[in-house]
Amino acid sequence: MSKLEEICVEKGMKMTDQRRVIARVISESDDHPDVEEVYLRASQIDPKVSIATVYRTVRLFEDAGLVDRHDFGDGRARYEEVSEHHDHLIDVKSGQVIEFHNAEIEQIQEKIAQEHGMRLVGHRLELYGVSLNPSKDG
Ligand SMILES: [Zn+2]
Repeated sequence: MSKLEEICVEKGMKMTDQRRVIARVISESDDHPDVEEVYLRASQIDPKVSIATVYRTVRLFEDAGLVDRHDFGDGRARYEEVSEHHDHLIDVKSGQVIEFHNAEIEQIQEKIAQEHGMRLVGHRLELYGVSLNPSKDG
């Protein structure tokens, strides 16, 4: 069983075969697929899965706080299983997404919140860039 599937079961979510397939696809993705990509991967496992089911299921996982939705500037909603906190650096030309964690940035954000009399409960940070070595990436 995939990690996401396990958490769904623990949460008492009703897990149909198709939901299990979709959970597995998201859990096993190490990129940030959009709904269509999740659908393509899920149909490789179960050709009966419909895109409408993928939409509904991804939404269900998102509402349950198990999946994060991102918008990396191309207008497509992208999804990933909630995991250890990280931020994203997006190559606007190739679309490549790099995950990073920087303790200094985390501290600065805490400090900014404190300076405004607030306690930070979360943040989203997306950096957009272009490769300095374009020959490598094409
Ligand atoms: Zn990520």
